[in-house]
Amino acid sequence: METTQTKTKCVLYARKSTEEDDKQVMSIEAQLFELEEYAHRERIQIVKVFTEAKSAKKPGREEFAKMIKYIEESKEPIGILGWHPDRLARNSVDGGKIIYLVDINIIASLRFPQFWFEPTPQGKFMLQVAFGQSKYFSDNLVENVKRGIRQKIRRGEWLTLAPMGYVNNFKTHNIDPDPVKSRVIKRAFTAYATGKYTLVELADFLADHGVVQKKGTPFAKCSVVKMLTNRAYLGFVKHRGEWHDGTFKPILSPTLFEAVQKILSARRKPRKSKVRHPFPFTQFMTCGECGCAITAQYVTNRYGVTYTYYRCTKKNGNCAQPYIQQNLLAEKIQILLQSVSLPREEIENMEKQITEWENESISSRGSVVQNLKTKLFETKEKLDKLVSLYLDGDIEREIYLERKDLLLRQKAKFEESFRDFGQQGKNRLEPLRSFVLSLKEAMELEKTSNHLEWKKFFQSIGSNPSLKDKTVSIHWGELWDFVASAKGGSGLPSASFHSENSLPISNFTNVSLSAGRET
Ligand SMILES: [Zn+2]
Repeated sequence: METTQTKTKCVLYARKSTEEDDKQVMSIEAQLFELEEYAHRERIQIVKVFTEAKSAKKPGREEFAKMIKYIEESKEPIGILGWHPDRLARNSVDGGKIIYLVDINIIASLRFPQFWFEPTPQGKFMLQVAFGQSKYFSDNLVENVKRGIRQKIRRGEWLTLAPMGYVNNFKTHNIDPDPVKSRVIKRAFTAYATGKYTLVELADFLADHGVVQKKGTPFAKCSVVKMLTNRAYLGFVKHRGEWHDGTFKPILSPTLFEAVQKILSARRKPRKSKVRHPFPFTQFMTCGECGCAITAQYVTNRYGVTYTYYRCTKKNGNCAQPYIQQNLLAEKIQILLQSVSLPREEIENMEKQITEWENESISSRGSVVQNLKTKLFETKEKLDKLVSLYLDGDIEREIYLERKDLLLRQKAKFEESFRDFGQQGKNRLEPLRSFVLSLKEAMELEKTSNHLEWKKFFQSIGSNPSLKDKTVSIHWGELWDFVASAKGGSGLPSASFHSENSLPISNFTNVSLSAGRET
Protein backbone atom coordinates (compact mmCIF):
# COMPACT_ATOMS: atom_id res chain seq x y z
CA MET A 1 0.00 0.00 0.00
CA GLU A 2 3.03 2.25 -0.22
CA THR A 3 1.86 3.49 -3.57
CA THR A 4 -1.45 5.13 -2.62
CA GLN A 5 0.30 8.37 -1.75
CA THR A 6 1.74 8.81 -5.19
CA LYS A 7 -1.34 7.72 -7.10
CA THR A 8 -3.50 10.19 -9.02
CA LYS A 9 -7.05 10.25 -7.69
CA CYS A 10 -9.89 10.14 -10.17
CA VAL A 11 -13.58 9.57 -10.39
CA LEU A 12 -14.56 7.13 -13.09
CA TYR A 13 -17.35 8.10 -15.48
CA ALA A 14 -18.77 5.56 -17.93
CA ARG A 15 -21.71 6.22 -20.21
CA LYS A 16 -23.58 4.49 -22.98
CA SER A 17 -26.90 5.66 -24.29
CA THR A 18 -29.47 3.51 -25.97
CA GLU A 19 -29.46 5.76 -29.02
CA GLU A 20 -28.85 4.60 -32.53
CA ASP A 21 -25.36 6.01 -33.08
CA ASP A 22 -24.14 4.80 -29.72
CA LYS A 23 -24.84 1.18 -30.53
CA GLN A 24 -21.28 0.39 -31.48
CA VAL A 25 -19.78 1.90 -28.36
CA MET A 26 -18.65 -0.53 -25.70
CA SER A 27 -21.10 -1.46 -22.98
CA ILE A 28 -20.78 0.27 -19.63
CA GLU A 29 -19.55 -2.98 -18.15
CA ALA A 30 -16.81 -3.21 -20.79
CA GLN A 31 -15.84 0.43 -20.27
CA LEU A 32 -15.57 -0.17 -16.53
CA PHE A 33 -13.44 -3.20 -17.12
CA GLU A 34 -11.10 -1.49 -19.57
CA LEU A 35 -10.83 1.61 -17.39
CA GLU A 36 -10.05 -0.36 -14.27
CA GLU A 37 -7.31 -2.12 -16.15
CA TYR A 38 -6.04 1.21 -17.47
CA ALA A 39 -6.14 2.76 -13.99
CA HIS A 40 -4.15 -0.11 -12.60
CA ARG A 41 -1.53 0.30 -15.30
CA GLU A 42 -1.36 4.08 -15.00
CA ARG A 43 -1.34 4.09 -11.20
CA ILE A 44 -4.64 5.94 -10.97
CA GLN A 45 -6.72 5.48 -7.83
CA ILE A 46 -10.45 5.38 -8.56
CA VAL A 47 -12.28 7.11 -5.70
CA LYS A 48 -15.83 6.87 -7.01
CA VAL A 49 -17.64 5.41 -9.99
CA PHE A 50 -20.47 7.10 -11.90
CA THR A 51 -22.35 5.33 -14.67
CA GLU A 52 -25.03 6.75 -16.91
CA ALA A 53 -27.30 5.21 -19.51
CA LYS A 54 -28.25 8.45 -21.17
CA SER A 55 -27.34 10.52 -24.19
CA ALA A 56 -24.84 13.34 -23.68
CA LYS A 57 -26.16 15.42 -26.54
CA LYS A 58 -28.23 17.62 -24.27
CA PRO A 59 -27.34 19.03 -20.84
CA GLY A 60 -29.21 17.67 -17.81
CA ARG A 61 -27.68 14.29 -17.05
CA GLU A 62 -28.19 13.32 -13.38
CA GLU A 63 -25.09 11.26 -12.77
CA PHE A 64 -22.96 13.76 -14.63
CA ALA A 65 -24.26 16.54 -12.36
CA LYS A 66 -23.64 14.43 -9.27
CA MET A 67 -20.09 13.78 -10.41
CA ILE A 68 -19.37 17.49 -10.98
CA LYS A 69 -20.79 18.25 -7.52
CA TYR A 70 -18.67 15.52 -5.96
CA ILE A 71 -15.51 16.96 -7.53
CA GLU A 72 -16.38 20.54 -6.59
CA GLU A 73 -16.99 19.59 -2.96
CA SER A 74 -13.90 17.44 -2.63
CA LYS A 75 -11.15 18.75 -0.38
CA GLU A 76 -8.38 17.13 -2.40
CA PRO A 77 -7.58 17.35 -6.11
CA ILE A 78 -9.59 14.88 -8.16
CA GLY A 79 -9.52 14.14 -11.85
CA ILE A 80 -11.91 12.38 -14.20
CA LEU A 81 -11.20 9.09 -15.88
CA GLY A 82 -13.31 8.17 -18.90
CA TRP A 83 -12.95 6.01 -21.99
CA HIS A 84 -13.02 8.95 -24.40
CA PRO A 85 -14.09 12.63 -24.20
CA ASP A 86 -17.28 11.75 -26.07
CA ARG A 87 -18.38 9.65 -23.11
CA LEU A 88 -18.11 12.74 -20.93
CA ALA A 89 -19.86 15.35 -23.05
CA ARG A 90 -21.36 15.77 -26.48
CA ASN A 91 -22.83 19.23 -26.06
CA SER A 92 -21.15 22.61 -25.67
CA VAL A 93 -22.70 23.39 -22.25
CA ASP A 94 -21.33 20.29 -20.47
CA GLY A 95 -18.15 20.45 -22.54
CA GLY A 96 -17.60 24.11 -21.66
CA LYS A 97 -18.24 23.38 -17.99
CA ILE A 98 -15.54 20.72 -17.92
CA ILE A 99 -13.01 22.93 -19.65
CA TYR A 100 -13.83 25.78 -17.27
CA LEU A 101 -13.36 23.51 -14.22
CA VAL A 102 -10.01 22.40 -15.64
CA ASP A 103 -9.06 26.06 -16.11
CA ILE A 104 -9.77 26.96 -12.48
CA ASN A 105 -8.06 23.75 -11.24
CA ILE A 106 -11.18 22.18 -9.76
CA ILE A 107 -10.76 19.20 -12.07
CA ALA A 108 -7.18 18.15 -11.38
CA SER A 109 -6.76 16.07 -14.52
CA LEU A 110 -8.60 14.37 -17.36
CA ARG A 111 -7.55 10.88 -18.34
CA PHE A 112 -8.74 8.85 -21.31
CA PRO A 113 -7.14 5.65 -22.66
CA GLN A 114 -8.31 6.71 -26.11
CA PHE A 115 -7.35 10.38 -26.03
CA TRP A 116 -4.28 12.25 -24.88
CA PHE A 117 -5.13 15.42 -22.98
CA GLU A 118 -2.84 17.98 -21.39
CA PRO A 119 -4.02 21.24 -19.81
CA THR A 120 -2.38 23.54 -22.38
CA PRO A 121 -4.31 25.87 -24.69
CA GLN A 122 -3.77 23.36 -27.52
CA GLY A 123 -4.92 20.52 -25.32
CA LYS A 124 -8.08 22.35 -24.38
CA PHE A 125 -8.76 23.18 -27.99
CA MET A 126 -8.43 19.51 -28.93
CA LEU A 127 -10.75 18.62 -26.10
CA GLN A 128 -13.33 21.13 -27.28
CA VAL A 129 -13.15 19.55 -30.72
CA ALA A 130 -13.52 16.12 -29.21
CA PHE A 131 -16.62 17.18 -27.29
CA GLY A 132 -18.12 18.68 -30.42
CA GLN A 133 -17.10 16.45 -33.26
CA SER A 134 -17.16 13.27 -31.34
CA LYS A 135 -18.71 11.35 -34.20
CA TYR A 136 -15.36 11.36 -35.94
CA PHE A 137 -13.61 10.26 -32.79
CA SER A 138 -16.10 7.57 -31.93
CA ASP A 139 -15.75 6.13 -35.40
CA ASN A 140 -12.03 5.95 -34.80
CA LEU A 141 -12.65 4.48 -31.42
CA VAL A 142 -14.75 1.64 -32.77
CA GLU A 143 -11.95 0.77 -35.18
CA ASN A 144 -9.40 0.85 -32.37
CA VAL A 145 -11.47 -1.34 -30.13
CA LYS A 146 -12.08 -3.83 -32.91
CA ARG A 147 -8.40 -3.95 -33.70
CA GLY A 148 -7.58 -4.44 -30.03
CA ILE A 149 -10.10 -7.24 -29.70
CA ARG A 150 -8.79 -9.06 -32.75
CA GLN A 151 -5.29 -8.93 -31.32
CA LYS A 152 -6.44 -10.19 -27.97
CA ILE A 153 -8.25 -13.10 -29.58
CA ARG A 154 -5.18 -14.00 -31.57
CA ARG A 155 -3.21 -14.09 -28.35
CA GLY A 156 -5.90 -16.29 -26.78
CA GLU A 157 -6.72 -13.73 -24.13
CA TRP A 158 -10.01 -13.37 -22.32
CA LEU A 159 -11.67 -10.15 -23.48
CA THR A 160 -13.89 -8.91 -20.70
CA LEU A 161 -14.79 -9.49 -17.09
CA ALA A 162 -13.60 -12.89 -15.93
CA PRO A 163 -16.36 -15.52 -15.94
CA MET A 164 -17.39 -17.09 -12.65
CA GLY A 165 -14.54 -19.24 -11.34
CA TYR A 166 -11.85 -17.06 -12.86
CA VAL A 167 -10.18 -13.79 -11.89
CA ASN A 168 -8.75 -11.15 -14.20
CA ASN A 169 -4.99 -10.97 -14.22
CA PHE A 170 -4.03 -7.40 -15.01
CA LYS A 171 -0.41 -8.28 -15.62
CA THR A 172 -0.99 -10.92 -18.28
CA HIS A 173 -4.22 -9.28 -19.57
CA ASN A 174 -5.75 -12.70 -19.26
CA ILE A 175 -7.67 -14.69 -16.65
CA ASP A 176 -6.55 -17.20 -14.03
CA PRO A 177 -8.65 -19.80 -12.21
CA ASP A 178 -9.90 -18.46 -8.90
CA PRO A 179 -8.16 -20.74 -6.39
CA VAL A 180 -11.35 -21.45 -4.43
CA LYS A 181 -14.24 -20.97 -6.86
CA SER A 182 -12.62 -22.94 -9.67
CA ARG A 183 -12.44 -25.94 -7.36
CA VAL A 184 -16.04 -25.52 -6.31
CA ILE A 185 -17.07 -25.41 -9.96
CA LYS A 186 -15.06 -28.52 -10.74
CA ARG A 187 -16.72 -30.30 -7.85
CA ALA A 188 -20.13 -29.14 -9.06
CA PHE A 189 -19.43 -30.59 -12.51
CA THR A 190 -18.20 -33.84 -10.98
CA ALA A 191 -21.31 -34.04 -8.83
CA TYR A 192 -23.65 -33.35 -11.74
CA ALA A 193 -21.87 -35.92 -13.90
CA THR A 194 -22.89 -38.63 -11.43
CA GLY A 195 -26.49 -37.99 -12.43
CA LYS A 196 -27.56 -37.85 -8.82
CA TYR A 197 -28.16 -34.12 -8.63
CA THR A 198 -30.90 -31.92 -10.00
CA LEU A 199 -30.17 -28.36 -11.09
CA VAL A 200 -31.77 -26.98 -7.93
CA GLU A 201 -29.70 -29.28 -5.73
CA LEU A 202 -26.62 -28.18 -7.62
CA ALA A 203 -27.49 -24.52 -7.02
CA ASP A 204 -27.75 -25.32 -3.31
CA PHE A 205 -24.44 -27.15 -3.44
CA LEU A 206 -22.83 -24.09 -5.02
CA ALA A 207 -24.42 -21.81 -2.44
CA ASP A 208 -23.12 -24.02 0.39
CA HIS A 209 -19.66 -23.38 -1.01
CA GLY A 210 -20.12 -19.65 -1.31
CA VAL A 211 -20.92 -19.45 -5.03
CA VAL A 212 -24.10 -17.36 -5.11
CA GLN A 213 -25.82 -14.55 -6.98
CA LYS A 214 -24.98 -10.94 -6.22
CA LYS A 215 -27.95 -10.83 -3.85
CA GLY A 216 -26.52 -13.76 -1.90
CA THR A 217 -29.23 -16.20 -2.97
CA PRO A 218 -28.56 -19.51 -4.76
CA PHE A 219 -28.43 -19.44 -8.57
CA ALA A 220 -31.57 -19.97 -10.60
CA LYS A 221 -31.82 -23.09 -12.74
CA CYS A 222 -31.03 -21.24 -15.96
CA SER A 223 -27.85 -19.80 -14.44
CA VAL A 224 -26.74 -23.28 -13.38
CA VAL A 225 -27.32 -24.52 -16.93
CA LYS A 226 -25.34 -21.56 -18.22
CA MET A 227 -22.50 -22.52 -15.93
CA LEU A 228 -22.67 -26.20 -16.87
CA THR A 229 -22.41 -25.35 -20.56
CA ASN A 230 -19.82 -22.58 -20.28
CA ARG A 231 -16.99 -23.46 -22.65
CA ALA A 232 -14.71 -20.97 -20.91
CA TYR A 233 -14.02 -23.78 -18.44
CA LEU A 234 -12.47 -25.71 -21.33
CA GLY A 235 -10.18 -22.77 -22.01
CA PHE A 236 -12.16 -21.22 -24.89
CA VAL A 237 -12.75 -17.49 -25.47
CA LYS A 238 -16.10 -16.21 -26.69
CA HIS A 239 -16.47 -13.24 -28.97
CA ARG A 240 -19.72 -12.34 -30.71
CA GLY A 241 -21.17 -15.78 -30.32
CA GLU A 242 -18.08 -17.55 -31.56
CA TRP A 243 -15.67 -19.63 -29.53
CA HIS A 244 -11.91 -19.44 -30.02
CA ASP A 245 -8.94 -21.26 -28.52
CA GLY A 246 -7.76 -19.44 -25.41
CA THR A 247 -4.35 -19.46 -23.77
CA PHE A 248 -5.57 -19.41 -20.18
CA LYS A 249 -5.79 -22.45 -17.93
CA PRO A 250 -8.93 -24.58 -18.30
CA ILE A 251 -10.75 -25.52 -15.10
CA LEU A 252 -12.22 -28.76 -16.38
CA SER A 253 -11.12 -31.76 -18.38
CA PRO A 254 -13.02 -32.23 -21.65
CA THR A 255 -14.11 -35.69 -20.45
CA LEU A 256 -15.84 -34.23 -17.43
CA PHE A 257 -17.37 -31.43 -19.50
CA GLU A 258 -18.77 -33.85 -22.08
CA ALA A 259 -20.08 -36.14 -19.34
CA VAL A 260 -22.10 -33.22 -18.01
CA GLN A 261 -23.35 -32.30 -21.50
CA LYS A 262 -24.65 -35.83 -21.93
CA ILE A 263 -26.64 -35.70 -18.69
CA LEU A 264 -27.95 -32.24 -19.57
CA SER A 265 -29.10 -33.19 -23.05
CA ALA A 266 -30.67 -36.40 -21.80
CA ARG A 267 -32.70 -34.43 -19.29
CA ARG A 268 -33.56 -31.56 -21.59
CA LYS A 269 -37.26 -31.44 -22.19
CA PRO A 270 -38.33 -31.51 -25.80
CA ARG A 271 -39.32 -28.04 -26.97
CA LYS A 272 -43.02 -27.89 -27.40
CA SER A 273 -43.29 -24.52 -29.10
CA LYS A 274 -41.07 -25.31 -32.04
CA VAL A 275 -42.30 -28.50 -33.64
CA ARG A 276 -39.31 -28.90 -35.87
CA HIS A 277 -39.25 -32.67 -35.63
CA PRO A 278 -42.74 -34.02 -35.99
CA PHE A 279 -41.26 -37.43 -36.85
CA PRO A 280 -38.48 -38.18 -34.34
CA PHE A 281 -37.78 -41.69 -35.60
CA THR A 282 -37.20 -40.95 -39.27
CA GLN A 283 -33.72 -41.28 -40.77
CA PHE A 284 -33.09 -43.85 -38.12
CA MET A 285 -34.33 -47.36 -38.98
CA THR A 286 -34.25 -49.57 -42.01
CA CYS A 287 -36.81 -52.13 -43.05
CA GLY A 288 -35.98 -55.62 -41.79
CA GLU A 289 -37.48 -57.22 -44.88
CA CYS A 290 -36.19 -55.22 -47.83
CA GLY A 291 -33.56 -52.92 -46.32
CA CYS A 292 -35.24 -49.67 -47.41
CA ALA A 293 -35.47 -46.60 -45.20
CA ILE A 294 -38.34 -46.21 -42.76
CA THR A 295 -40.32 -43.02 -43.22
CA ALA A 296 -43.28 -41.45 -41.43
CA GLN A 297 -46.58 -39.84 -42.28
CA TYR A 298 -49.80 -38.59 -40.72
CA VAL A 299 -52.91 -40.68 -41.17
CA THR A 300 -56.34 -39.33 -40.28
CA ASN A 301 -59.01 -41.90 -39.55
CA ARG A 302 -62.72 -41.57 -40.31
CA TYR A 303 -63.37 -39.96 -36.93
CA GLY A 304 -60.96 -37.16 -37.81
CA VAL A 305 -58.24 -38.27 -35.38
CA THR A 306 -54.70 -37.94 -36.75
CA TYR A 307 -52.01 -40.49 -35.94
CA THR A 308 -48.36 -40.71 -36.87
CA TYR A 309 -47.40 -43.88 -38.68
CA TYR A 310 -44.02 -45.25 -39.67
CA ARG A 311 -43.60 -47.42 -42.72
CA CYS A 312 -41.13 -48.86 -45.20
CA THR A 313 -40.55 -46.62 -48.24
CA LYS A 314 -40.64 -49.78 -50.40
CA LYS A 315 -38.32 -48.26 -52.97
CA ASN A 316 -37.05 -51.70 -53.98
CA GLY A 317 -40.50 -52.81 -55.03
CA ASN A 318 -42.17 -55.66 -53.24
CA CYS A 319 -42.28 -55.49 -49.46
CA ALA A 320 -45.09 -56.77 -47.29
CA GLN A 321 -44.25 -54.87 -44.11
CA PRO A 322 -47.20 -53.22 -42.31
CA TYR A 323 -47.46 -49.68 -40.89
CA ILE A 324 -46.68 -49.10 -37.22
CA GLN A 325 -48.12 -46.32 -35.09
CA GLN A 326 -45.60 -43.97 -33.42
CA ASN A 327 -46.74 -44.72 -29.85
CA LEU A 328 -46.24 -48.43 -30.33
CA LEU A 329 -42.86 -47.86 -31.98
CA ALA A 330 -41.77 -45.63 -29.09
CA GLU A 331 -42.74 -48.36 -26.63
CA LYS A 332 -40.57 -50.88 -28.47
CA ILE A 333 -37.63 -48.51 -28.51
CA GLN A 334 -38.07 -47.76 -24.83
CA ILE A 335 -37.88 -51.49 -24.14
CA LEU A 336 -34.55 -51.56 -25.98
CA LEU A 337 -33.33 -48.73 -23.79
CA GLN A 338 -34.50 -50.50 -20.66
CA SER A 339 -32.63 -53.60 -21.73
CA VAL A 340 -29.32 -51.77 -21.32
CA SER A 341 -30.27 -49.48 -18.49
CA LEU A 342 -28.45 -50.76 -15.43
CA PRO A 343 -29.05 -49.83 -11.80
CA ARG A 344 -26.98 -46.89 -10.69
CA GLU A 345 -24.92 -48.96 -8.21
CA GLU A 346 -23.81 -51.28 -10.99
CA ILE A 347 -22.66 -48.37 -13.09
CA GLU A 348 -20.80 -46.92 -10.15
CA ASN A 349 -19.06 -50.23 -9.54
CA MET A 350 -17.90 -50.20 -13.12
CA GLU A 351 -16.58 -46.70 -12.75
CA LYS A 352 -14.67 -47.72 -9.66
CA GLN A 353 -13.17 -50.63 -11.51
CA ILE A 354 -12.08 -48.43 -14.40
CA THR A 355 -10.44 -46.00 -12.02
CA GLU A 356 -8.54 -48.90 -10.47
CA TRP A 357 -7.39 -50.00 -13.88
CA GLU A 358 -6.36 -46.51 -14.72
CA ASN A 359 -4.10 -46.51 -11.72
CA GLU A 360 -2.29 -49.61 -12.94
CA SER A 361 0.36 -48.88 -15.45
CA ILE A 362 -0.18 -50.17 -18.96
CA SER A 363 2.45 -50.59 -21.60
CA SER A 364 2.65 -50.99 -25.37
CA ARG A 365 0.67 -48.02 -26.52
CA GLY A 366 2.47 -46.90 -29.63
CA SER A 367 -0.37 -47.52 -32.06
CA VAL A 368 -2.82 -45.64 -29.89
CA VAL A 369 -0.56 -42.60 -29.81
CA GLN A 370 -0.32 -42.71 -33.58
CA ASN A 371 -4.08 -43.03 -33.84
CA LEU A 372 -4.58 -40.01 -31.61
CA LYS A 373 -2.10 -37.95 -33.57
CA THR A 374 -4.00 -38.74 -36.75
CA LYS A 375 -7.33 -37.86 -35.18
CA LEU A 376 -5.97 -34.60 -33.86
CA PHE A 377 -4.53 -33.73 -37.22
CA GLU A 378 -7.80 -34.54 -38.97
CA THR A 379 -9.78 -32.39 -36.59
CA LYS A 380 -7.46 -29.44 -37.14
CA GLU A 381 -7.78 -29.90 -40.88
CA LYS A 382 -11.55 -29.99 -40.61
CA LEU A 383 -11.45 -26.76 -38.61
CA ASP A 384 -9.34 -25.06 -41.26
CA LYS A 385 -11.65 -26.23 -44.02
CA LEU A 386 -14.67 -25.05 -42.10
CA VAL A 387 -13.21 -21.58 -41.63
CA SER A 388 -12.42 -21.20 -45.32
CA LEU A 389 -15.90 -22.44 -46.24
CA TYR A 390 -17.33 -19.76 -44.00
CA LEU A 391 -15.00 -17.07 -45.31
CA ASP A 392 -15.95 -17.96 -48.87
CA GLY A 393 -19.58 -17.51 -47.91
CA ASP A 394 -20.44 -21.12 -48.68
CA ILE A 395 -22.14 -21.80 -45.34
CA GLU A 396 -24.41 -19.87 -43.01
CA ARG A 397 -22.93 -18.34 -39.87
CA GLU A 398 -25.24 -20.42 -37.67
CA ILE A 399 -24.09 -23.69 -39.17
CA TYR A 400 -20.50 -22.52 -39.05
CA LEU A 401 -20.73 -21.68 -35.35
CA GLU A 402 -22.41 -24.96 -34.51
CA ARG A 403 -19.84 -27.06 -36.36
CA LYS A 404 -16.92 -25.04 -35.07
CA ASP A 405 -18.11 -25.53 -31.51
CA LEU A 406 -18.28 -29.29 -32.02
CA LEU A 407 -14.87 -29.45 -33.65
CA LEU A 408 -13.22 -27.30 -30.99
CA ARG A 409 -14.62 -29.53 -28.28
CA GLN A 410 -13.48 -32.62 -30.16
CA LYS A 411 -10.03 -31.18 -30.54
CA ALA A 412 -9.85 -30.39 -26.83
CA LYS A 413 -10.85 -33.97 -26.09
CA PHE A 414 -8.15 -35.45 -28.32
CA GLU A 415 -5.57 -33.11 -26.87
CA GLU A 416 -6.58 -34.20 -23.40
CA SER A 417 -6.25 -37.88 -24.28
CA PHE A 418 -2.89 -37.13 -25.78
CA ARG A 419 -1.67 -35.42 -22.62
CA ASP A 420 -3.04 -38.09 -20.32
CA PHE A 421 -1.40 -40.76 -22.35
CA GLY A 422 2.07 -39.83 -21.32
CA GLN A 423 1.11 -40.26 -17.69
CA GLN A 424 -0.96 -43.31 -16.98
CA GLY A 425 -2.20 -44.63 -20.25
CA LYS A 426 -5.61 -43.50 -19.24
CA ASN A 427 -6.99 -43.31 -22.73
CA ARG A 428 -6.55 -47.00 -23.22
CA LEU A 429 -9.52 -47.10 -20.89
CA GLU A 430 -11.15 -44.07 -22.43
CA PRO A 431 -13.52 -46.09 -24.67
CA LEU A 432 -14.61 -48.10 -21.66
CA ARG A 433 -15.05 -44.94 -19.67
CA SER A 434 -17.21 -43.38 -22.35
CA PHE A 435 -19.14 -46.62 -22.64
CA VAL A 436 -20.01 -46.42 -18.96
CA LEU A 437 -20.93 -42.80 -19.56
CA SER A 438 -23.34 -43.97 -22.24
CA LEU A 439 -24.78 -46.49 -19.79
CA LYS A 440 -25.57 -43.60 -17.53
CA GLU A 441 -27.11 -41.74 -20.39
CA ALA A 442 -29.29 -44.76 -21.18
CA MET A 443 -30.40 -44.83 -17.56
CA GLU A 444 -31.40 -41.16 -17.73
CA LEU A 445 -33.07 -41.41 -21.13
CA GLU A 446 -35.13 -44.44 -20.30
CA LYS A 447 -37.06 -42.33 -17.79
CA THR A 448 -37.88 -39.56 -20.26
CA SER A 449 -39.98 -39.58 -23.39
CA ASN A 450 -37.57 -37.44 -25.36
CA HIS A 451 -37.81 -39.42 -28.57
CA LEU A 452 -35.30 -37.34 -30.45
CA GLU A 453 -32.70 -37.91 -27.75
CA TRP A 454 -33.47 -41.62 -27.81
CA LYS A 455 -32.65 -41.69 -31.48
CA LYS A 456 -29.45 -39.71 -30.92
CA PHE A 457 -28.43 -42.15 -28.22
CA PHE A 458 -28.74 -45.18 -30.47
CA GLN A 459 -26.94 -43.35 -33.23
CA SER A 460 -24.14 -42.39 -30.85
CA ILE A 461 -23.52 -45.99 -29.83
CA GLY A 462 -23.09 -46.67 -33.50
CA SER A 463 -25.98 -48.82 -34.53
CA ASN A 464 -29.15 -48.12 -36.45
CA PRO A 465 -32.01 -50.48 -35.73
CA SER A 466 -34.19 -52.31 -38.19
CA LEU A 467 -37.95 -52.71 -38.15
CA LYS A 468 -39.70 -55.91 -39.09
CA ASP A 469 -43.18 -57.19 -38.28
CA LYS A 470 -43.70 -54.26 -35.93
CA THR A 471 -40.63 -55.31 -33.95
CA VAL A 472 -37.48 -53.22 -33.55
CA SER A 473 -34.13 -54.96 -33.38
CA ILE A 474 -30.69 -53.57 -33.02
CA HIS A 475 -27.12 -54.73 -33.40
CA TRP A 476 -25.48 -53.79 -30.17
CA GLY A 477 -21.72 -53.58 -29.86
CA GLU A 478 -20.01 -56.32 -27.88
CA LEU A 479 -20.03 -54.48 -24.59
CA TRP A 480 -23.66 -53.59 -25.05
CA ASP A 481 -24.51 -57.20 -25.78
CA PHE A 482 -22.81 -58.01 -22.57
CA VAL A 483 -24.95 -55.56 -20.63
CA ALA A 484 -28.15 -56.63 -22.31
CA SER A 485 -27.44 -60.28 -21.61
CA ALA A 486 -26.38 -59.56 -18.05
CA LYS A 487 -29.81 -58.05 -17.58
CA GLY A 488 -31.29 -61.30 -18.83
CA GLY A 489 -32.53 -59.48 -21.86
CA SER A 490 -33.47 -62.52 -23.88
CA GLY A 491 -34.95 -62.10 -27.32
CA LEU A 492 -32.61 -59.26 -28.27
CA PRO A 493 -31.42 -60.22 -31.70
CA SER A 494 -27.88 -59.20 -32.46
CA ALA A 495 -25.39 -60.22 -35.05
CA SER A 496 -22.40 -59.62 -32.82
CA PHE A 497 -23.75 -61.47 -29.84
CA HIS A 498 -21.27 -63.93 -28.35
CA SER A 499 -22.38 -66.25 -25.62
CA GLU A 500 -19.00 -66.15 -23.89
CA ASN A 501 -19.68 -62.52 -23.15
CA SER A 502 -22.76 -63.26 -21.12
CA LEU A 503 -21.03 -63.16 -17.78
CA PRO A 504 -22.83 -62.15 -14.64
CA ILE A 505 -22.33 -58.48 -13.94
CA SER A 506 -20.16 -59.12 -10.89
CA ASN A 507 -17.58 -60.60 -13.25
CA PHE A 508 -17.34 -57.40 -15.19
CA THR A 509 -13.63 -57.26 -14.47
CA ASN A 510 -13.17 -60.27 -16.73
CA VAL A 511 -14.31 -58.50 -19.84
CA SER A 512 -11.48 -58.17 -22.26
CA LEU A 513 -10.42 -54.58 -22.52
CA SER A 514 -9.87 -54.84 -26.20
CA ALA A 515 -13.59 -55.29 -26.67
CA GLY A 516 -14.18 -51.64 -26.03
CA ARG A 517 -11.47 -50.12 -28.12
CA GLU A 518 -11.46 -51.82 -31.46
CA THR A 519 -11.84 -48.58 -33.37
ZN1 LIG B 1 -39.46 -52.90 -46.65
